[in-house]
Amino acid sequence: MRHTERKPLLLQPQLPYRNLDHIVKSVSAQHFKNAYDDVTWSFVIQRTLANIMPAARHVQIHNVLNATDVPEDVFVTIIIHEMLHLEIPAVKDKKGKWNSHPDEFWEAERNRSPNREASWDWLYTNLPLERRERLQCTDVVGKLIRFSPEERAAARVRFGIELPARIRSDDPLFRRISFDKWYLAIAETRRKNSSG
Ligand SMILES: [Zn+2]
Repeated sequence: MRHTERKPLLLQPQLPYRNLDHIVKSVSAQHFKNAYDDVTWSFVIQRTLANIMPAARHVQIHNVLNATDVPEDVFVTIIIHEMLHLEIPAVKDKKGKWNSHPDEFWEAERNRSPNREASWDWLYTNLPLERRERLQCTDVVGKLIRFSPEERAAARVRFGIELPARIRSDDPLFRRISFDKWYLAIAETRRKNSSG
């Protein structure tokens, strides 16, 4: 989750299957004394999990979370994080580099974001995430994964999962199948094939 002033050019807002208006309002009220009631949001296909454009007060959340079964607390955690960017602006370090997450930021998040750890557990369990430390942001890894008929049969027998012929790792439709299970289902079959 990173904040950026750049206007994204290629992002297409997606039809929202979740309405986050009430979460924005309640987070603003409970954690920010109603200072950020006017924050808007959208689901977009983008690289990062979530970010905010401070000037526009607009939060963009990766479309992989645009699904009805994402726990409410996960959105609360994301909205608190992005609103904290409005409260605690980026600072320039000694080398003149912008730091959007100074120590003060992480401390505020630790103290004021009650479900932070559980939310990140859920995110890492259910999404293919990759941390880019240098940029202090978390990406959703978008990959096309193809399954052979044999791999699909193995997944059915071993894990009771019906895998389609191919899936996009960042498609909310397929997110419900845990990535661990995909990996296990595939790795096991591929190992067998290569040794035999
Ligand atoms: Zn951030």
